[in-house]
Amino acid sequence: MTVPTGPQPALDLDQFVDGVLRSDRAILGRAITLVESTRADHQQLAGELLTRLVPYSGRAHRVGITGVPGAGKSTLIDALGTELTARGHRLAVLAVDPSSKRTGGSILGDKTRMSNLAVDDDAFIRPSPSAGVLGGVTRATREAIVVVEAAGFDIVFVETVGVGQSETAVANMVDSFLLIMLARAGDSLQGIKKGVLELADVIAFNKADGKQEHDAKGAAQELASALHMMAPSAEGWSAPVMTCSAIERRGLLEVWAQVVAHRDRLESNGGLVAKRQRQSIDWMWESVENQVVTRFRNRPDVQARAEVLEQALREGTTTASLAAAALLGGV
Ligand code: GDP
Repeated sequence: MTVPTGPQPALDLDQFVDGVLRSDRAILGRAITLVESTRADHQQLAGELLTRLVPYSGRAHRVGITGVPGAGKSTLIDALGTELTARGHRLAVLAVDPSSKRTGGSILGDKTRMSNLAVDDDAFIRPSPSAGVLGGVTRATREAIVVVEAAGFDIVFVETVGVGQSETAVANMVDSFLLIMLARAGDSLQGIKKGVLELADVIAFNKADGKQEHDAKGAAQELASALHMMAPSAEGWSAPVMTCSAIERRGLLEVWAQVVAHRDRLESNGGLVAKRQRQSIDWMWESVENQVVTRFRNRPDVQARAEVLEQALREGTTTASLAAAALLGGV
């Protein structure tokens, strides 16, 4: 089967596989578009493609990067990324941003936000799929990881914003998680939820330059001593708190060294294999849950009964759990 994607000639499965394995940028981009697609015929071909690519995947260091808008994620990824490609690495940058609209606002993984990497032959940048629901964006990004790994990228960054549920989703698809923070007087946590701190394997206070250097160092120290009180993670790792300046390219390789140290620690104690196995199994069940619910909701008989029950809820003549039981009772 072939899939026509826009004006380009359609590609068959072998052409997709060969193109990805050769790291042909155009085919790589189209392969990711294919796995992002929710169309049934695309999904069929995407499934076949992923099955062929999986044996070539799994060899990259997968790193999640989060931080509030303005923390300096794209500046840091651009600067650190070019340091890494200069050292012989091949870097793919993916993004998870369920709120992203292709119009207005900054889009994570936007090439214009990473002007050096955008023209770097050893880097591949892919903006977040704009498919509204987090589950859909997450699925697409997990599968894009398989594609870029099969294409030989040995480092994959998955960028997300430090708000909402997307960090947890990203933490569940990467080996190491880097949290970029900003020092703000009197509030070293600046709205980052405690849950996000707990996901972090390495924490970096960015913009440690000029007048802000002192504040960044102070905030890092403060957070380091606060974290000291917390028990190390199950992986036997305590998140180091660093400072850096993405704009002046200072401290970035030190931050990266900690990210690598985290992965080395995981690898040496068997934690990496266990973590990836756990992530895959969790993901399988999450996919099952999503699909079961979607199929159930789409059934005409369920929709008809749901309409009646929703009206009863509006009128206050039943409760949500009674309505749910009534809806499920008709399965
Ligand atoms: P993002 O929204 O997290 O991706 O943040 P950006 O990378 O777009 O950066 C937001 C703003 O902070 C931009 O104006 C950057 O130039 C600036 N910025 C980023 N990193 C640094 C840094 O290390 N020091 C200073 N002083 N400014 C920075």
